[in-house]
Order: sequence, then structure tokens, then C-alpha cells
Amino acid sequence: MSRASAMGSRTLVGKYELGRTLGEGSFAKVKFARNTQITGESAVAIKIIDRHRVLRHHMVEQIKREISTMKMITHPNVLNILEVMASRTKIYIVLEYVGGGELFDKIAKYGKLKEGDARRYFQQLINAVDYCHSRGVYHRDLKPENLLLDSHGVLKVSDFGLSAFQKQEDGLLHTACGTPNYVAPEVLNDKGYDGTASDVWSCGVILFVLMAGYLPFDEPNLVALYRKIHKAEFSFPPWFSSNAKRLIKRILDPNPLTRITIPEILENDWFKKDYKQPCFKQEEDVNVDDVDAVFNDSEDCLVTERKEKPVSMNAFELISRTQGFSLENLFDKQMGLVKRETRFTSTCPANEIMSKIEETAKPLGFNVHKKNYKMKLQGDKSGRKGQLAVATEVFEVAPSLHLVELRKTGGDTLEFHKFYKTFSSGLKDVVWTSDLNKEETS
Ligand code: AMP
Repeated sequence: MSRASAMGSRTLVGKYELGRTLGEGSFAKVKFARNTQITGESAVAIKIIDRHRVLRHHMVEQIKREISTMKMITHPNVLNILEVMASRTKIYIVLEYVGGGELFDKIAKYGKLKEGDARRYFQQLINAVDYCHSRGVYHRDLKPENLLLDSHGVLKVSDFGLSAFQKQEDGLLHTACGTPNYVAPEVLNDKGYDGTASDVWSCGVILFVLMAGYLPFDEPNLVALYRKIHKAEFSFPPWFSSNAKRLIKRILDPNPLTRITIPEILENDWFKKDYKQPCFKQEEDVNVDDVDAVFNDSEDCLVTERKEKPVSMNAFELISRTQGFSLENLFDKQMGLVKRETRFTSTCPANEIMSKIEETAKPLGFNVHKKNYKMKLQGDKSGRKGQLAVATEVFEVAPSLHLVELRKTGGDTLEFHKFYKTFSSGLKDVVWTSDLNKEETS
């Protein structure tokens, strides 16, 4: 596949072949990758972090300790760290790959969850948080992007032990897009806080959103939002059961000292309904030499990102990797979930596709920045989770066939989906629908 005109090539880091970008978080890019040394289950996700940023923040010891601990954890609801590598400029955290998308994409598509379903995810979330706390690792930045689902719909919490990467010069945690809707009041005060109680608060906000379909604390400006969080000022929608309300009220207690604890949550009647004890075994002989090598600046173990000759891929192979191209299928669907990334093909010239995207995005309130065949669409309104931002890129598959990728890089997932509905209808003229798809959908 070529990036509009220049031919691409395959990129290898150690034994992993890097693939497409799965997401961009606040401090890292996450790429799909394959372990070239094994057949079968070779898919992984690699989180790529700027090495200098970590070293600059004097957090090496904390990060090293937490990543080593996380590598030893194999809990069914915690995303597993498989390996850590470093080049001169980057740190690569190799993670188990999960293919079910983000939990909140489900809400974006189907709306709020039924109380029983919300409880099931909440139980898995509390199990993950409880277990990591018991090992001395706190999340400190639980939010929807960190809640992923595997292909069986099991919740996997990501980024445990990685929060130190996000601390800025001022020592405060900064959430991905600026708005701290999930953050506990004592974290906003930053007068030193207990990671246990603040993680519990974030779990409470997450439970509220799962059951309500919207946030408990949501204000257009930060001052008003902080005030509401500090007073824990929110109201319940009428469909919440009284037991659920009682529990959420105890979690969203602005005083961390009187807030309900995890052992108390585990004893709560609403929580206990249909509860299944997680079953897992502790890995005994996990090797953490790779983590030590990365953070001790050991020159011997550095990997390099190397590009190999272009892999030839014809249009048909490429198309077979994506799903149908009818407008109905415009979102990549996996397990019935809508992902925050999508692709379509077009038989129009690259410049025409770019112009059409620009023409469609501008009236929707987006500033458009173009560079070669990449575009960044930046929303001008501040939404729930900051401004919506979308990255697009046009690839040339064959002289008369282009593949266009669109990815949400900032803002709220629910808003992205709303935006995309309008946006995709504006792109109708450039999206190619194969005859096969036309037959299937007619
Ligand atoms: P994060 O920086 O962890 O918020 O990751 C950004 C996005 O990348 C996530 O919200 C997911 O959509 C995707 N992602 C992260 N880790 C994985 C993984 N292990 N498997 C699949 N997708 C992932």
C-alpha cells in the first residue's frame, strides 16, 4: 500500500511488525503489531512513548516499579503487559491485543446499558482495581478510553501503572483532552491524595455513565465543572433503582475519608447480585529484566525501528482486510461495536477526496490542517471531553483506487459518532461502493 504516492514499507521493532494505529492517548500512540516469531495468536498492541519525556520527569523509579508489578499481574480484567523494549528515543510497551473495542463505543451505539449489564462491567472493573491496589499499583486516571473489551466481551482495564507517564512539569495528572470529568475532587485539589479512594470515585462516575448514558458532572466551563465535582452535585435519572442510587451516592462522596471503600463495595447488596469471583493464577516466574534494562539505560538491549522493503499488496488483498464499503458499513464493525476509527475506499483522485473532506468538515465547525496526504480536523467547539479532533490519511492502493482512514484523536466518543453520521452523508459522492455491496445492501 502506498501513502498516496510514496510506497510504504514494513516496519519492524525487535521481533514485532508494526501495523496500523489503534489509538492515540494523551501520552502515547498505540499500534497494532504482530510477533513475527510465532504463528497463531501473534497479535499484540504496542504503546509507543517518547523516552525523553519520561526521563525528563524524574519518574523512572516509580514507572519501573509499577511496570514490573504490572508485568507480573495476569488478572482477567487487567490488560496484560507482555514485554517492554526501548530504542534511543522511544519506549515500547507490548500489550495483549484485545479486539472488542472500547466499552463506551457500545454506549455511543446502543445508548445506556441495562442495570444488570452495567453491574457486570462494574464488578469486573472493581475486581481489576481491587487487585492492582492490593499489589500497590493505582490507576489514577480511570476513564472510558481505558476500558476495553476482548472478543468475548470481557472488560480489560488498560494503563494501570502507566499514569506516571502523564504527569506534567507541574506534577499534576492531566487527562487526555483537558476536561477532568472522571477525576475525584481531592485529585483536583492536588494536596496529596490516596490513590485508592480516588480510583473508587472514578469507578463511580463510570458506573453512572454506563447506566445513564451521560456524565454526572458535565459543565461547559472548567470552573463550573470543578465546583460541581467538589460539591458532588449531581442528580439521578428516574430509571436508576434505589439500591444503585444508594451505592453511587456513597461512591461519589466528596470526602475521601468517608467515601465507601472497595471492601465495603464488595459487601454491598446491589454489587453482589450475580457476582462471579474472578478466577486467575498468579504467574510465578515472570522475568522483569527487560523492564530493568529499559529504565537503567542499558545500551545493550536497545532495539531499532527498521524499515524493510515494501510488501507488495494488491488492491484485492487490501480490500479483503477491510469490511464492506457501503455507507451502511462505513464504520468498521467488530462484534457489533462501532470503533472510533473507520476506513472507506474511493475511486476519486486523492486531491479530490481531500477537498471533499475539507468541504464537508468546514461547515460542521472544523478547522482543517493539511500536510501531504494527511489531514487533521479540529473541532472549534469544546465538547464534553474537549474539542473533537479527527485525523485522516489517504493511501493509494492502485492508480485509480484510494483507501481513506479516519480516526478520532481527541474529544468525546459519543460526539464523534454524532459528527460522523453527518460527515459520512456529505462524503457520499467520493465513497466507492462495490457492486457486491450494492447487491448485499439492496
Ligand atoms: P490509550 O492510550 O491506552 O488510551 O489507548 C488509546 C486507544 O488505543 C484505546 O482507547 C484503544 O482504542 C486502543 N488500544 C489501546 N490498547 C489496546 C489494546 N491492547 N488492544 C486494542 N486496542 C488498544
